[in-house]
Amino acid sequence: MADVLVYALHHDGAFNKNSLGAVCEGVARSAEIGGACDVVVVGGGDLTDALCATLGHHGARRVFRAQGPEGLSQPVIDVMDSVIAEHGHRYAIFGGGLLGFEIGAGLAARRQAGVTMEVTAVRVDPEHPGTLVAERPILGDSKISVSRYRGELGIIISRINAFEVRPGDGGEAEVLDVHVDYSPWSAQLEMLSRGEQRGAEVDIEGADMLVAGGRGLGKAESFRLVEELAAALGPGSAVAATRAVVDAGWYPYSTQIGQTGKTVAPKLYLAAGISGAVQHKVGMQSSENIVAINKDANAPIFEFSDLGIVGDLNKILPKLTEAIRARKG
Ligand SMILES: Cc1cc2nc3c(=O)[nH]c(=O)nc-3n(C[C@H](O)[C@H](O)[C@H](O)COP(=O)(O)OP(=O)(O)OC[C@H]3O[C@@H](n4cnc5c(N)ncnc54)[C@H](O)[C@@H]3O)c2cc1C
Repeated sequence: MADVLVYALHHDGAFNKNSLGAVCEGVARSAEIGGACDVVVVGGGDLTDALCATLGHHGARRVFRAQGPEGLSQPVIDVMDSVIAEHGHRYAIFGGGLLGFEIGAGLAARRQAGVTMEVTAVRVDPEHPGTLVAERPILGDSKISVSRYRGELGIIISRINAFEVRPGDGGEAEVLDVHVDYSPWSAQLEMLSRGEQRGAEVDIEGADMLVAGGRGLGKAESFRLVEELAAALGPGSAVAATRAVVDAGWYPYSTQIGQTGKTVAPKLYLAAGISGAVQHKVGMQSSENIVAINKDANAPIFEFSDLGIVGDLNKILPKLTEAIRARKG
């Protein structure tokens, strides 16, 4: 029997998509190795019994709830360390993102565990049934490396949103309060405020349709073309950007897609004036439909687009927006 422990982050009365994906992955993989998936949550009074129990909808067995500051890594490491010491979980799975990386790395150091980051798939080791291996793309995503874990604990940190959120059986998880004596260093940092990053009031990782702008837009003001198209597409749409654009200060960092930005998989990814560099591609290649507008017919983005439009985005974007508005009446 090998159980999996997952950390779930919550904000404003809901667990974030990245955490729920990790819970679903933990549930699916633990079932394959004869165990179950438990979840650790750390926070205040807003982590109610009812909210924590909803993790059972996705198949989680128990939720270990500790009072403490939410969104800081050290207290979570203390709680996970204590839960693992008592219950002997074999694997810990985290959704990617800065917090997941910090907690996963800290927990690995604390428990002297093996850790793999940027994982995109986890599966049962065919040579050692009852254990898991983690797959991680390397060398610009041209190859996959596979890690096997020795020792008592294996730590798996995914790419952001690499794991799909799957509906569970609708059951409720058992909620257990745990009391942990936090390490002295866990109290050395205080959260002053939590909230969305400036310009990120729209959840681009959860959006169904993304209109992404690249350097081909020419200047910050031209992002208006991209914003208007996203607005015409309606609710569920958001604007994204390349690193070239955010580095130039044309759009907020929170919208950057790619290797050093966010990983997304919307139903539609419309890329305007984006060349399709591999570092951008890795963040959006799982999108269901990729449409690219680029004036260069040889732009790499056309190699992995479902629909390519060769032309000037300054002419095409306004026409597309107009056509969508007309169609929507
Ligand atoms: C370690 C590392 C990490 C990185 N991480 C990321 C990352 O996370 N995300 C990311 O995006 N990049 C990342 N990059 C940068 C990446 O390599 C590219 O430089 C970047 O993605 C290019 O952005 P772009 O497509 O907007 O610009 P460009 O490559 O300059 O492409 C602009 C495109 O616009 C087209 N164009 C120009 N004018 C028009 C027009 N009027 N109409 C239509 N098309 C037009 C051009 O033909 C061109 O194809 C990273 C790089 C490194 C080294």
